[in-house]
Amino acid sequence: MTAWLLRYDGYDPEAEPLREALCTLGNGRFATRGAASESSAGGPHYPGTYAAGVFNRLSVTMAGQPVENESMVNLPNWLSLTFRVEDGPWLDVDRDHIEDYVQELDLRRGVLTRRFRVVDAEGRITAVAQRRFVSMADPYCAGQDATIVAENYDGTITVRSGLDAGVANTGVARYAGLGDQHLTCVLAETLDKTGVVVGVRTTQSRVEVGVGARHRVLRDGSPVDVPAESVLREDYAGQDLTLTVQQGQEHTVEKTMALYTSRDRALSEPFGEAREKALCMPELDELLRRHVLAWDHLWARCDMEIDASERTQMVLRLHLFHLLQTVSNNSLDLDVGIPARGLHGEAYRGHIFWDETFVYPYLNLRMPEVSKALLLYRWRRLPQARRLAHEAGYAGAMFPWQSSANGREETQTLHLNPASGHWLPDNSHLQRHINVAVAYNTWQYYEATGDLDFLATYGAEVLFEIARFWASIATYDRADDRYDIRNVMGPDEYHDAYPWRDEAGLDNNAYTNVMVVWLLQRALRCVEILPDRRRRQLLDLLDIRRSDLERWEHMSRKMRLAWHDGVLSQFEGYERLKELNWEDYRIRYGDIGRLDRILEAEGDSTNGYRLSKQADVLMLFYLLSETEIAEIIEHLGYRWDPLLPSRCVDFYLHRTAHGSTLSKLVHAWVVARIDRDVAWRLFLEALESDVSDVQGGTTQEGIHLGAMVGTVDLLQRGFTGLETRGDILRFDPYLPEEIGQLHFRMRYREHYGLEVFLTQDELRIVGRRHVGGQLHLRVRDTDLEVDPGGAISIPLD
Ligand code: BGC
Repeated sequence: MTAWLLRYDGYDPEAEPLREALCTLGNGRFATRGAASESSAGGPHYPGTYAAGVFNRLSVTMAGQPVENESMVNLPNWLSLTFRVEDGPWLDVDRDHIEDYVQELDLRRGVLTRRFRVVDAEGRITAVAQRRFVSMADPYCAGQDATIVAENYDGTITVRSGLDAGVANTGVARYAGLGDQHLTCVLAETLDKTGVVVGVRTTQSRVEVGVGARHRVLRDGSPVDVPAESVLREDYAGQDLTLTVQQGQEHTVEKTMALYTSRDRALSEPFGEAREKALCMPELDELLRRHVLAWDHLWARCDMEIDASERTQMVLRLHLFHLLQTVSNNSLDLDVGIPARGLHGEAYRGHIFWDETFVYPYLNLRMPEVSKALLLYRWRRLPQARRLAHEAGYAGAMFPWQSSANGREETQTLHLNPASGHWLPDNSHLQRHINVAVAYNTWQYYEATGDLDFLATYGAEVLFEIARFWASIATYDRADDRYDIRNVMGPDEYHDAYPWRDEAGLDNNAYTNVMVVWLLQRALRCVEILPDRRRRQLLDLLDIRRSDLERWEHMSRKMRLAWHDGVLSQFEGYERLKELNWEDYRIRYGDIGRLDRILEAEGDSTNGYRLSKQADVLMLFYLLSETEIAEIIEHLGYRWDPLLPSRCVDFYLHRTAHGSTLSKLVHAWVVARIDRDVAWRLFLEALESDVSDVQGGTTQEGIHLGAMVGTVDLLQRGFTGLETRGDILRFDPYLPEEIGQLHFRMRYREHYGLEVFLTQDELRIVGRRHVGGQLHLRVRDTDLEVDPGGAISIPLD
């Protein structure tokens, strides 16, 4: 059971913010942090609730400049539930004498429980057991209950439970000053004897959110009527329920909740809907039963079983759990992207970055319908991306580095260095490589699913417009017969400019340039495979001419790559940078993950040094197979050296600060084929990123979804060598010795329910419920076929 359980013993205020993030419950439509029900925002507590895609903009003046930010909005707190004995103080876990405190997140069932005993000044002991879930089966609903036992007294306990709309976005201290009042409360009412409802409207985007709740009280398991009094304030609707308790008797207060937003489908308006649903939804037990069933079905499809330590298994499941709570079938018609920090906190204001690249490979092979819905988030924002390109003087579509509601650029222009207190220009919007990621994700979905309809209707348009953007940002150097891409940033955010140049941006970032070649080749391939009529229509509609296609082809042969010391240079001019004295910084600062902040506070800059925040050149070896990279390098007229990957790893790995949680994961991946021990160590470290909050305080502001899912994908594709390239399912296993067996289910194109078992000695693939034809497999260099319904075992030496 422990491989399904995240358990905390004892209450620890310091650890509480992290626990809240890790114990978040959600269903792909909305999520609620694992905050104590009796708490409100303040001290170690932050009971945030967020609905996917509900954003709002606020404007303030900062450092003398007007700044507008769009944030995922913290919605009314439906958890709010507390009690007091007689006229004593309300429960306060930070002040009261608390014993036997245990908090458990049951990953298999999606249920959070909390048990403890409170001993008051009079020596009265009250035992409390709470359960909570956000329904995976009924995506508008959630429930919680609290079972209270007076262990050594008779008397009166008042339970106060309600909906608190007096909330703001105050979850990230650094953002104080960016404005936090996103909601106006327009409704706070009791419904009848048992229910309450609140309605809020976001101040700028005018999204309405209705939340309704209903209470039921059980005494020793049977429903009872208890006196209920309304507690109404401008932004709070609650009830005081009076329990007459006898020693040892068990009272349970159930609270079922419904949340609707004006962005939902199939509704009239959200307040009425919340009201109605609160009154007519099933009782808590039934709601819970259906919720557990939904998780059962999800796990049957999505689990990743690893024969290693119980902790490794548990953390992997925790990662999957949070993925499925952020995006699931419940997200299908929401028009949402994959937020980098989940629906778990306010870091990065709920924005969508390139982190989705680390998430799709897992989804594509399990829930392609969800992938498709999420890819449409980008397709729908093509008009904004075109506008962004146009305003910057380029053609095609340029997706923004940070995106949220309508797809405009949401990257802030200033960021705070907490180490120096300085507000600094933020150039990270120059990470144009997001436009590689969007195209890569589109193409990977197609490769994994073979969904030509999607490609023809949506995907091709995205690929073509992005190809066009790159063709216009690149300049042709006739003398060298090479294309340059100037003034951009690679994934490494510690380099945003040359120390010797005033303007921001770098030239010929290797990651960007190689991936652009890859993308242009895919765009050209896409032209070939589209059905005739659609190809003509699309090229016509987008005004893509033969000369455009010729330029794409030419660029794909003539892109410039910079080199030094036998390795690909992260960008042109990299060799002019100084070496950093890493040892000195480690001794002086201990944790040097955020070298950018450290150096800036010293009056220096990371720009001057050979260092990086995260994998940059090495990202290439993460996204592409060695064969693909070799082909591109040779296609560009450079010499491919089989030792290049290991030389690049040697060079860059030791110069990486791992200031992003994505970094160790990518490094684990790229060293997997070079040094399995190092790969395993990095994998374990990446696994701990969030559960142990290795960055010391970032996880509490939201999980790192890319790193979480990336660790699962490292098992799924990294160690198995699984690729879905070119109509063949490929495997090239390379399992670290610490893993006894890996087992997972996947779907490849029309081959549903494929089971993969991998041990040190054998790869076994079982085709269940086969509806497709023969499965074409390539294991290492051997081509194989699996018959419908058949199984195949391949010995590995
Ligand atoms: C990383 C980016 C990432 C972003 C959002 C940054 O710290 O450097 O690569 O996209 O966080 O997770």
